[in-house]
Amino acid sequence: MGVMMLHLVRIAVPGANAFLIRGARTILVDCGGAAHRDVLCAALAREGLAPSDLTLLLLTHAHAATAGNARWLQQAHRVPVAIHGADAPILATGCDRPHRPVSATAALVGWLDDPHFEPVIPDVVLGHSTPLWRHGVGATAVHTPGHTIGSVSVLCPAGDAIVGDLVMGGWFGVRSHHPARHWFAECPERVARSLALLERLGVERVHPAVGAELAMAEISRTLRIHAADRVGVSPARLRERRLAHVTTRGQLRPI
Ligand SMILES: [Zn+2]
Repeated sequence: MGVMMLHLVRIAVPGANAFLIRGARTILVDCGGAAHRDVLCAALAREGLAPSDLTLLLLTHAHAATAGNARWLQQAHRVPVAIHGADAPILATGCDRPHRPVSATAALVGWLDDPHFEPVIPDVVLGHSTPLWRHGVGATAVHTPGHTIGSVSVLCPAGDAIVGDLVMGGWFGVRSHHPARHWFAECPERVARSLALLERLGVERVHPAVGAELAMAEISRTLRIHAADRVGVSPARLRERRLAHVTTRGQLRPI
């Protein structure tokens, strides 16, 4: 049997996109906030699916905006829930850990967010790299910490990755194809490393929870350099990196 093509469906839940990965079976990646359950149900119906048809709900991380319907899917529809081991304890508390804003605007956004959701004990605990073939799709969950310590990305063989809040697209709906740092990061120094890992693994298209599809090349060109700024890299080292960046791009830019 050859490799089955996977089909990705974005569900534009307000606050955080969810995604269907359709192969031999269908899994759901993230499930939106509880207040938007109708959006999720309508999208499943459009695909000809009942919630109980899902073989897995995989959470990229434990936040109210991405995990708000997890307990309902698990309890009412017997959908097993998967999350990385490092985020499992947060999922079980039903409350986001305090958000670590990366800027003053982010602090305001965090203040507006309701951090509570229905707590869930996961059925599947993900590790560093977990193939999902036993759930009917040929994708792999890879640990990409940064936004939370237990954040994962789901990689599809054609070069797509669903990344949760590792990075976001645009700013409040403007320029949503433009990569931007997410408002919150528990370990900001690991965001750049996780993005670099995805690039090394051959990811070309990044699908964030907030915003539209992003090109990996565009993320590498903008965010990773900026991320280095924020992790205490020495000014000399940073200048070297920027110079290298300018040289490899073959164009002059202000440094
Ligand atoms: Zn989040």
